[in-house]
Amino acid sequence: MRIYSLIDAHCHLDFTCFNPDRKQLIAQAHSNHVKKIIIPATQKIYWERIKQLCQQADLYACYGLHPYWVNQHKTEDLAELEKNLNDYDCVAVGECGLDFRPGQADKKQQLYYFEAQLTIAQQQALPVVIHAVRATEVVLDILKKHPHLHGMIHSYSGSLEQARQLIDRGFYISIGGAITYPQARRIHRIGQHIPLSALLLETDAPDQPDYSHQGERNQPAYLVNTLQAVAELRDEDTAVIATQTTLNTENLFNLPGS
Ligand SMILES: [Zn+2]
Repeated sequence: MRIYSLIDAHCHLDFTCFNPDRKQLIAQAHSNHVKKIIIPATQKIYWERIKQLCQQADLYACYGLHPYWVNQHKTEDLAELEKNLNDYDCVAVGECGLDFRPGQADKKQQLYYFEAQLTIAQQQALPVVIHAVRATEVVLDILKKHPHLHGMIHSYSGSLEQARQLIDRGFYISIGGAITYPQARRIHRIGQHIPLSALLLETDAPDQPDYSHQGERNQPAYLVNTLQAVAELRDEDTAVIATQTTLNTENLFNLPGS
């Protein structure tokens, strides 16, 4: 493979499942072209460990309140978030969003935390990292109220038409290991047809492993498999996809260029 550098645009490297071998995983990612990693937050109690972790070079923090854990969040966390965004060295607000699969937390509560975080991101002129599952249309509607926001939709699962609307609103579409599955036609279409200038690559590790690592703990080094799948679908050289998606991620999060 040619030499290029990739950025994992969404990886939960702070999760405790990485405690035993985090250092090795970062080294492995490095030798597999993945030079930078964006680490989104889930709950307030874990912001500090992300802060600690991101003191290392090439790891970048986001702070926010994830919709899965809405029942654990407190209203005060939002004030705390605003304060931390000033204090902490961070590149975005998130992960926040909406997950409307059956069995997930109360929709009203999810909407409350999501909209509050969008307001904070807008006030602070920071990008926002959005989780949207079975909720892309609602997210699009809410974004109309925040016309100056920009950000990414991580592990995108909406339609191609919705992706186009999100891109028009200043959002990037981030694609993970799902695209490596032969039957994943909807996501193949997205990977093929959205402009390369709006595409990001992510692992969402430890979740969502690619086809060749099903059932395993996902890790940032596996990002190359997603790159490969996107390159094949678009009939492009991997280096072209790598260069542009890295540039997109640097632009979105205002990272130093490599
Ligand atoms: Zn995530």
